[in-house]
Amino acid sequence: MELNERIRQVQERLTQAARSAGRDPEEITLCAATKLQSEQTIRAAIAAGIRVCGENREQELTAHLQEDAYAGAQQVHFIGHLQTNKVNRVVGRVELIQSVDSSRLLQAIQKQAQKLGIVQDILLQVNIGAEASKGGVAPEEVGELAQQAVQLPNVRLRGLMCIPPVAQSPQEATHYFVAMRQLFVDTKEKMADNENDMDCLSMGMSHDFEQAIACGATLIRVGTALFGPRPTADTPKK
Ligand SMILES: *Cc1c(COP(=O)(O)O)cnc(C)c1O
Repeated sequence: MELNERIRQVQERLTQAARSAGRDPEEITLCAATKLQSEQTIRAAIAAGIRVCGENREQELTAHLQEDAYAGAQQVHFIGHLQTNKVNRVVGRVELIQSVDSSRLLQAIQKQAQKLGIVQDILLQVNIGAEASKGGVAPEEVGELAQQAVQLPNVRLRGLMCIPPVAQSPQEATHYFVAMRQLFVDTKEKMADNENDMDCLSMGMSHDFEQAIACGATLIRVGTALFGPRPTADTPKK
């Protein structure tokens, strides 16, 4: 299937899922997960209507920025694990860092944003399934990290993100999305005057974004459904 056709299908699925949930499709952002995709594919996706690109690795982000591969996109997000020593190559170069999961990382982002004289938008990544292998802050620690974030002058907390465990059933996936939605609402309520900044709940990928939308996602991150099976590091990119 052509890239254009896949993009059109994902946009249609998004619209349908929003309507079924009684929501306005316009309030849901489609973020294309572009990891391992070539500069040409990213350009083609943007030409076909993709507005937001999400990168996982600092090296790929830096390379694509140098190639100006995101020209025409409205936003670039960072969605992968971010090492503290890579912060300087990400802060100020993306509109949103979705994957903040420690106090140390938060401080490093603050330091660099201050140096650049900007305010960096971030999400806190939540390990909603409490999986040992996954990044993200534990649900019970979100409140405290959120409080730290809102006290930093060069960081703006925009919401929460999660990558739930691989679900064995649609019910199981929904269970995690509902838990995330509740955590989002609870965290927002505790934010006092920063409450209005918190407008982003990033959850849902190729196989489960309809359920995520039904549970309140405002941003979905989709790779495979847009681009087809991902190129691997050892198959040449086309
Ligand atoms: C790759 C990736 C996605 C998209 O995954 P697909 O299953 O290919 O849609 C979403 N979020 C993150 C953080 C990713 O790394």
